[in-house]
Amino acid sequence: MPVTLITGANRGIGFEHARRYIEQGWEVHATARNPDAATELQALAAEHIGRVHIHSLDVTDHASVEALAAQLQGVAIDLLLNNAGTYGPQGFPDGAVYQSLDNMDYTAWRDMLEINLLAPFKVATAFHDHVAASEMKLHVLMSSGLASIADNISGSYAYRSSKAGLNMLAKGMGEEWDDIITVAMAPGWCNTDLGGPDAPVGTADSVAAQQQLYPTLTSADSGRYLDFNGETVPF
Ligand code: NDP
Repeated sequence: MPVTLITGANRGIGFEHARRYIEQGWEVHATARNPDAATELQALAAEHIGRVHIHSLDVTDHASVEALAAQLQGVAIDLLLNNAGTYGPQGFPDGAVYQSLDNMDYTAWRDMLEINLLAPFKVATAFHDHVAASEMKLHVLMSSGLASIADNISGSYAYRSSKAGLNMLAKGMGEEWDDIITVAMAPGWCNTDLGGPDAPVGTADSVAAQQQLYPTLTSADSGRYLDFNGETVPF
């Protein structure tokens, strides 16, 4: 059965991926900062004994990322979902107030860079060999439509810059790693804690579409920036 590792799998898009892959018979390594509070994941693990492995991981703690990679040495990871991310403490769109031209919260910005940019780089490089040893060999960097420089009109400077940086990683890794496929994914504005209740895209719909798309990707797609329907998003 295929294996996935999902960071930030306790809620939102990450949890929905975990839930759906479990339904399809996959084995899921799900990371959460606080596994004790990850009640939905725990319920999933209790229901599917041996197929859900919950790991405690703050992705900004690089020693913990390395320790988990060492713990999972020898495990082939078909799909690495580099998903954990943040729009800052208030989520979208309220969090836009502290990342504008006239009001920047530099602490929040630094946190976003750590979580959305440096941490995915660390996770990708730590787990590259696990992915390369698998059948599917797919690495997804969970980006955002807000990462597009071409489409940018205003605001969200902290989040946008962190995710635009993430896209740079996707392109570079896509060029340099010819033994795995790396893509940047724009999942759509989804109704998670981060996206808020007004989001037009259902989280379940986005994740279902992503999961249809992923098996169709080939090495020719590596380095691309795609939306959840597989359409190219301009960098
Ligand atoms: P949620 O806020 O619902 O979930 C975010 C997840 O990331 C949580 O599991 C959270 O863990 C985890 N996380 C945050 N910081 C860390 C950290 N330091 N270490 C480990 N895990 C961490 O967001 P979404 O599900 O909506 O977002 C998932 C991804 O999709 C993110 O990368 C986001 O930027 C991206 N995205 C989301 C969009 C949307 O509209 N929802 C649109 C575009 C992109 P904890 O519970 O411990 O806080």
